[in-house]
Amino acid sequence: LQWTTQELLEEAGKTILFTAHRPDVVMERGEGMYLWDTEGKSYLDFVGGWAVTCLGHSPVVLQEALAAQAAQLVNASPSFLNRPMVELASLLVQVSCFERVFFTSTGAEANESAIKLARKYGKIRRDGAHEIITMTNAFHGRTLAAMAATGKPQWETLFTPRMPGFKHVPYNDYEACAAAVDENTCAIMLELIQGEGGVVEAELEYVRKLRSLCDDKGILLIVDEIQTGLGRTGKLFAYEHYGIEPDIMTLAKGIGGGFPLSAMLTKEAYNIFEPGDQGGTYTGQPLGMAAGLAVVQTIVSGELSAQAQRLGDYLMGELRLIAGRYGLTKLRGKGLLVAFDLPGEYGPALVDHCRSIGLLVNAPKPATIRLMPALIVEEADIDRMVELLCSALDEL
Ligand code: PLP
Repeated sequence: LQWTTQELLEEAGKTILFTAHRPDVVMERGEGMYLWDTEGKSYLDFVGGWAVTCLGHSPVVLQEALAAQAAQLVNASPSFLNRPMVELASLLVQVSCFERVFFTSTGAEANESAIKLARKYGKIRRDGAHEIITMTNAFHGRTLAAMAATGKPQWETLFTPRMPGFKHVPYNDYEACAAAVDENTCAIMLELIQGEGGVVEAELEYVRKLRSLCDDKGILLIVDEIQTGLGRTGKLFAYEHYGIEPDIMTLAKGIGGGFPLSAMLTKEAYNIFEPGDQGGTYTGQPLGMAAGLAVVQTIVSGELSAQAQRLGDYLMGELRLIAGRYGLTKLRGKGLLVAFDLPGEYGPALVDHCRSIGLLVNAPKPATIRLMPALIVEEADIDRMVELLCSALDEL
């Protein structure tokens, strides 16, 4: 079959379950900072698959790791260890404050694992405490427990009955969180920068106080670093900015560089699952493990976190130069997770216009634009992005 773009779009309209408004574009190829569609049009990508393609599109290191692993072993079974699984776990333990790793495929699954681990901890060490305190404006994924943890208002009534055991408190409000902890609480869960929420950073003192609160009350601190992990914010993990160690961390997105891979990391003290408590057909799947190993090794050995910090500062500097001209406010973020507010709710229209002139940006909220380019972005890419963004803003 060699369908034309028009035929592909028509077929998609008939066969793909509708879950999103997608533009009439079919992506075909990626290299570095660019994507190409089936019409040969190129796009400078400052979304990076939502902070996923951290080494850029189809990096050679990932191609080679996947090809070599595919030739060696695609899948044995989750009943067996495999070489890249152990190597990746060992590397993650070396570069983080954690001692144990569990692998899954998506961010939501990693969060489900964290929620289950916290509930088991509550069950066996806290007299059956099972409630997890999460934050308003959070995003933890689309499975049932992850949706309950997220607490998005439109989901609360649509997919009832809601999974019980989650209590929401305002983000960056320590007193509200402390007041919500009671004998039923087993954990506090948060993003250190709320990504989907519009790039909202947790304050330093707030996070430090949450750490102390968890210590005092004997409850777990879970950080969802699915968007912030692996160099994105200028440190390998965002918790490093706060000088604290969480009890559980979830990773996804960047860890596979585009290959579906996620992980839950925890301390030895919480190595409390019994056989059968948690697992999955694709836990430790060799292709995912090989992809993750190649990506994490490249980030660590190439010091891409430091690069993300440097290029993030450059990006922020360039945005500051144009902010006044276009009424852009609240320039914010860390490293290469950056956002700004527009003077009106025309984010989606701007995203569309940018795409039409060959630039991909994202609008997590109607008046917010978020940028999360690959960690390999260069100053010249940022200059080009700013040029295209300015033309889009001029023309809108
Ligand atoms: N947690 C955070 C912080 C995220 O940003 C996302 C995805 O955007 C998720 C969880 C869910 O990840 P996935 O879509 O891979 O299930």
